[in-house]
Amino acid sequence: TIANQPYSDGVRFGQLRQYWRQRFAENRIETAALDARLLLCAAAGVEQAQLISKERDLVPPEIEARMVQFGERRLAHEPVARILGRAEFYGRPFGVNKDTLVPRPETELLVEHAIKSLPSGGRFVDLGTGTGCIAVSILAERPDVSGLATDIAAGALEMAAQNATAHGVDGRLDLKCGSWFDPVPTDQRFDLIVSNPPYIAQSERADMNQEALDFDPEAALFAAHEGMAAYFEILAVAQNWLQPDGIILFEIGFQQATRLQNAAENAGATQVTFFKDLSGHNRVAQISW
Ligand code: GLN
Repeated sequence: TIANQPYSDGVRFGQLRQYWRQRFAENRIETAALDARLLLCAAAGVEQAQLISKERDLVPPEIEARMVQFGERRLAHEPVARILGRAEFYGRPFGVNKDTLVPRPETELLVEHAIKSLPSGGRFVDLGTGTGCIAVSILAERPDVSGLATDIAAGALEMAAQNATAHGVDGRLDLKCGSWFDPVPTDQRFDLIVSNPPYIAQSERADMNQEALDFDPEAALFAAHEGMAAYFEILAVAQNWLQPDGIILFEIGFQQATRLQNAAENAGATQVTFFKDLSGHNRVAQISW
């Protein structure tokens, strides 16, 4: 499959990596070098450090064939996380599937504040958990707390269950299928409600990352009312589920702070604080009554 093959006996790992890096770059994939490395590692079933030491080794045909499949998918602009079926989040690998978003680095800010805010032995609920990346990361970092996570997509909950088991927190996480609070027992009260719900307005479609648009589930990205629908629904009933000192932590869109503040105040909230992401955008809202 490789042009100008300088070795008669077969292709070497270093050559294969360079070949795909170049093809990705020609297709205007900005992370060409990284992607070629990650995909070749996955095709070979090795870590990045091992790949370096294999640069001059011959590639077995089945690994080459797997790399060709991965490479062709990447050339069609499928994100690496979708090809591999997993993504790194808060220092841990998370499985992803067609019903989940790929965990985003911005969301790590939400987790950071959740970890800081939970009282000792506290309990949280994660609404629209997707891969479970938020709930599982909180539980992994805070062995004293427990949580409940909901999602309307059964396929997402299956992924969240797998991720919870993989990271050894399944004993402290209840998973329930349904919209927002619908499947949450009515007698439960939480110290923290956390959510990264869909918050993109349909009008923002044109400005979106094309790979996310093509490969992330629509229902995980878009919300009605200029992207505010999920916040409205959750805020309307949130107080029923909160302990007296309980708080909400939401991830929000980079232009939504003012509208979120208004929505929270309309729901009777007395305190709304924003935290900025690494790009300087208000990205996390903390709300209390
Ligand atoms: N809570 C999940 C995440 O942060 C899913 C979010 C979503 O699908 N909007 O990845």
